[in-house]
Amino acid sequence: MTSRPLHVRGVVLPDDEVRDLWVVGDRVTLSPVPDAETVASGGFVLPGLVDAHCHIGVADGGVPVESVEQAKALALLDRDAGVLALRDAGSPIDYRVLDDDPEVPRLIRAGRHVAPPKRYLRGLAAEVGEAEVADELVRQADRGTGWVKLVGDWLDRDRADLGPAWDPAVMAGAVRAAHAAGARVAVHTFGEEAVSALVRAGVDSVEHGTGLDDDDIAEMARRGTALVPTMINVLTFGSIADQAQAKFPGYAQHMRALQAGFPAIVRNAYEAGVPIYVGSDAGGGIPHGLAAREMVLLRQSAGMSPLDALAAGSWGARAWLGLPGLVEGGAADLIVYEADPRADLAAVLSPQRIILKGRVVR
Ligand SMILES: [Zn+2]
Repeated sequence: MTSRPLHVRGVVLPDDEVRDLWVVGDRVTLSPVPDAETVASGGFVLPGLVDAHCHIGVADGGVPVESVEQAKALALLDRDAGVLALRDAGSPIDYRVLDDDPEVPRLIRAGRHVAPPKRYLRGLAAEVGEAEVADELVRQADRGTGWVKLVGDWLDRDRADLGPAWDPAVMAGAVRAAHAAGARVAVHTFGEEAVSALVRAGVDSVEHGTGLDDDDIAEMARRGTALVPTMINVLTFGSIADQAQAKFPGYAQHMRALQAGFPAIVRNAYEAGVPIYVGSDAGGGIPHGLAAREMVLLRQSAGMSPLDALAAGSWGARAWLGLPGLVEGGAADLIVYEADPRADLAAVLSPQRIILKGRVVR
């Protein structure tokens, strides 16, 4: 069954040109198509939002979803907020069957988190000792679509503070193995120690990155390593600290300090030219559909320009993840805003029209 072609007219960003676009099936064309239904005739057109760090395989409370249907329902919350592409930064369940679901945003998947035994949220990660990290990352590379997720640090109960997941040389070897298997490597880090070694080991993206110092940031800028700061997640560090206070007061204090220092780190990374992308870290404690909110935080707290915040959560992130934008033959994902989000970024919170995979969502 083929649906009727669609027609959209508006100011296409970032090119800043009034353009007519036609949607035929799952493709965009700039050539007029007869009998198309006009679904937007003004406003500002983007190739959809991107949440480059979320978890549709993790339900409320940080537990695995019970079914692929539940994962799909979470992805639809993102879609309905205009998020038309997701990079899943770790899922305990294999939901690859959703890759071709016409209702589900474009999926870029990292397989399962890889973490040391009992050093991550219970039941989510593939938990392995240091002898197996490299092999496990390679296994997860096969399960994902181009990415793997390494937990670089976590609470170390012996230290009563954050500590690297494994020895730096072990993690560097695992990064090399994942690269040799054709996967890009995303690393979870909160503390200072692991991230410093992992950036120099050549990881592709630092997730959270609350422990980055100026040297690490300079190294990331030099290498082109991406930062996905998940500012929404970092705002929850205070409650992580409160829960840990009685047992691990030093860790709690560390987490509060990391939160307090974070906006400045993201600002420094931005000013140093580190590529920054929008990630909400939805799944577990954080609701889905907050990518636009993260964009606003990047503007307000980290000083990103509206255009750069838009790139970080839309066309720039799509290019980074290998997804085409609104070009001839490109994917038929687009979003229309009534107001110009470059003038007031808050416009991204109110999409007027959403089209995913050639179908009108709203
Ligand atoms: Zn996450």
